[in-house]
Amino acid sequence: MAIIRFQAVHDANSRKPNEISGKQNKTSDYFAVNVFDKSKMQKFLSQDAYSGVMECIEKGIKIDRNLADKVAVGMKSWALDMGATHFSHWFHPLTDGTAEKHDAFIEYNEFGGVVENFSGKHLAQQEPDASSFPSGGIRNTFEARGYTAWDPSSPAFIVRNTLSIPTIFVSYTGEALDHKTPLLKALHAIDKAAVEVCEYFDKNVSKVFSTLGAEQEYFLVDESLYFARPDLVMTERTLVGHASEKDQQLDDHYFSSIPERVGAFMREFETEAYRLGIPLRTRHNEVAPNQYEVAPIYEECNLAVDHNILLMDIMKKIARRHHFIVLFHEKPFKGINGSGKHNNWSLMTNTGVNLLSPGNKPKSNMQFLSFLVCTLKAVYTHQDLLRASIVSAGNAMRMGSNEAPPLIMSIFVGNKISQMLDELEVRVTNKKMTPDEKTELKLDVGKIPEILLDNTDRNRTSPFAFTGNRFEFRAVGSSANCASPMTVLNTAIAQQLIQFKKDVDDLIEKNVKKDEAIFQVIRKYIIDSKKVRFEGNSYSEEWQKEAKKKGLTNVTNVIEALDAYLSAKSKRLFKSLKILNEKELEGRTGVRYDNYTKKIQIESRVIGDIAISQIVPTALDYQTKLIKNVKGLKELYSQNEFKVLVGGRLELIKTVSGHITAIKSKVHDMTEARKVANKIEDARGKAVQYSETVLQYLEDIRSHIDKLEQIVDNEMWPLPKYRELLFSR
Ligand code: ADP
Ligand code: MG
Repeated sequence: MAIIRFQAVHDANSRKPNEISGKQNKTSDYFAVNVFDKSKMQKFLSQDAYSGVMECIEKGIKIDRNLADKVAVGMKSWALDMGATHFSHWFHPLTDGTAEKHDAFIEYNEFGGVVENFSGKHLAQQEPDASSFPSGGIRNTFEARGYTAWDPSSPAFIVRNTLSIPTIFVSYTGEALDHKTPLLKALHAIDKAAVEVCEYFDKNVSKVFSTLGAEQEYFLVDESLYFARPDLVMTERTLVGHASEKDQQLDDHYFSSIPERVGAFMREFETEAYRLGIPLRTRHNEVAPNQYEVAPIYEECNLAVDHNILLMDIMKKIARRHHFIVLFHEKPFKGINGSGKHNNWSLMTNTGVNLLSPGNKPKSNMQFLSFLVCTLKAVYTHQDLLRASIVSAGNAMRMGSNEAPPLIMSIFVGNKISQMLDELEVRVTNKKMTPDEKTELKLDVGKIPEILLDNTDRNRTSPFAFTGNRFEFRAVGSSANCASPMTVLNTAIAQQLIQFKKDVDDLIEKNVKKDEAIFQVIRKYIIDSKKVRFEGNSYSEEWQKEAKKKGLTNVTNVIEALDAYLSAKSKRLFKSLKILNEKELEGRTGVRYDNYTKKIQIESRVIGDIAISQIVPTALDYQTKLIKNVKGLKELYSQNEFKVLVGGRLELIKTVSGHITAIKSKVHDMTEARKVANKIEDARGKAVQYSETVLQYLEDIRSHIDKLEQIVDNEMWPLPKYRELLFSR
C-alpha cells in the first residue's frame, strides 16, 4: 500500500513494571500482590471469618450473609489500601469475552459528605441489567433481570483501581447465563465421583481437583498495519491477502530468538500477570511468522479458566503500549498455521497425587489405570459432545487443515501404554485368578513408570493425547473460553467414574475380590473404548477412512457438530449430573448457532465492502493506467512496431476486467444470499443457511482479489500485504 509505509515504533515502554520503589524485584516479591488470596485474607479477615471462607471453598458450601459481611469488611480495607476506587462483579457471559460493571465505593454519609462503603450485600450479589447479554431465548426481555453471585473459589483481584470479584451469572429464574456456572457444577461432580473411586485405593483422599494448564497461542500484528486492514479490525482475520513469497516453509521462526519489541511486550504482560497471580512459565516463538505461545503452570481448573481469560485481556491491553495488536483468532492468515489453546488436563487429590501419573506401587498404578481407562471410555462415548465443545466459525478454519488436529476425536496414548492395555486385555479374564497370576499382574502393573520413562514419543497430530501425566486436549481454539471444553470433559468423565464404581461394586457384591473386580472392569473398558485409540498420523487421509470404518464420527460442519449438545445422550448426561437442564442446553446452543451466523454475516459484509470500495476502484485505476499506456504506444509507433511493443498488455487489461466483473457480480449475489438468510427466524436454520449459501462467496471473492493483488501496481494496492503483516515486528 502506498500511503503509509509505516514505521514500527520501538518505544518499548519506558516504565519498568517490575520495579518496586526503584529496585528490580524478583518475581516472587510481587507475585499476586494484586490478589486477595489466602495470605491477604489471613491478614485482613478475623480468624473465624477466614476459617469460615476456607471451609465454604473447600466444601463448596454457600456463604451466608453474615460471613459475607465480615469478608467484605476485610476485602474493602485491603482494596482501599491498594488504591482501589471501584468494585465490580466480573463474569463470563456467553459472548467471547468477560463483562464487568464498575461501581464506586462511595456513598453519601449523613452529613452530606461521602464515605467508602462495601458490604456483604455488594460482595455477594449484583443485578446487572442482563437484557443485552445472549441467553438463547432463556430470558425474555420483559423479565430482563439476571444476577451475578460471588464465586469464592476464585479470588478477587485488582485491575486498574477496580476490585474485581469473580462471579457466576444466572437468570432471575435460576438458569445459567454464563460459562462458569456449569463449569463449577462439573468440577463438583468430578470431585465427588473421583473421590469415591479413590476410596478403593486410598482412604485419605477427600477431595479431587481437576487441573488445567492452557497453552495460549497468538499472533502479533503491528498496530498501524492492523488499522489499515478493515478485515482485521472487524473480524480479527484477513479475509483477503495473497500468500507472501516466504512464510513458514523454512521453519525458521519456531523457537527462534524473540524479537526485541516482542520481548518487551512479553516481559510487560508477564509482569502484569504475575501481579495478578497468574503463574506464567513458558514463552516462545511458534511455527508461523509473528506467532507466539505463552503457557502457565497448571492450576485448579476454575482458577485456570479465569486466569486464561484475564491473561488474554491483559495481553490485548499491554500490546497497545508496544504498538502491537494481539490476534487470538484461530486462523488469521490463510495458508499459515492457525492458533490453538492446548488444554492440559488432569486430576489431583488433596493428598497431592496426580491420578493420571503412574506411581511406583502396584496399588497406585491400578488407580492410575482406572482413571486412564475411564477417560478413554468417556471420550469415546461422548466424542460428539467433545467436538461440539470446541467448534466455532473461527476454529472450523483451523481444524482439519494440516497443522491442526482433525475433528475425529481419537486418543493417542503412546506406544507403551497402548501395548500395556492390549496385554491387560488378554491377561485379565472373568475367571478367578490364581494367586500367582495375581502377583505377576500386580508386579507388571507396578512397572508402568519405568516403561513410561522411555515413552517419549509425542504425537502432535492427535486431538487428544496422553502426555505421560496428563491428557492434552489440543482441538481447543485459541480464542475459546476453556470453560466450555472443560465442562464437557469433566462431566463426561464424572459420569464414567460413577459408572466405574457401580460396575466394580456389582462384581464385589457377586463375591469377586476387590482387586480382581477392578481389573475386570478395567479390561472391559479397554475393550469398550478400543476404537477411540489411534497412534498414527491423524492428519492422514487413510485415518479418515479407517476412522469411518471403526465408526468414529467426523463432523466438519459447525452447525451439525453443535447439534450434539442437543442429542438425547448429551441431555441425559447433563441432566443426570445436574450440570445443565434442557432449557439451558437449548439456550446456550442457540447462542452458539447465532454466534456462527453473526461471524459469517460480519465477514461477508466486510469483504463485500473491501471489494467494492477499495479493490474495484484500485483495479479500475490500474486498468486505466494500462489503457493509457497502450494508447500512448499506439500513437507513437507504427502498427507493426506497436504489435510487438504492446506484448501481453492487452491480455492484462482483459484479465483485470475479468476479475472486476467477477467480483462485482459475486458481491451482488452474496448480498442477495444474505438477504434470504436474514429472513429466517430460527437460529439453527439461519446458521445452516449462512453456512450453505453465504460462506462459499467469501473464498470465491477472495480468490479474485488475491489474483488482482499479484497484478496491480504495488504502489496502488490499498491494503498492507501478508509480507508486511507477518514480518514487521
Ligand atoms: P508442551 O508444549 O510440550 O505441551 P508446555 O510446557 O508448553 O508443553 O505446556 C505444558 C502445560 O501442561 C503447562 O501449562 C503445564 O503446567 C501443564 N501441565 C503439566 N502437568 C499438568 C497436570 N498434571 N495437569 C494439568 N496440566 C499440566
Ligand atoms: Mg502442548
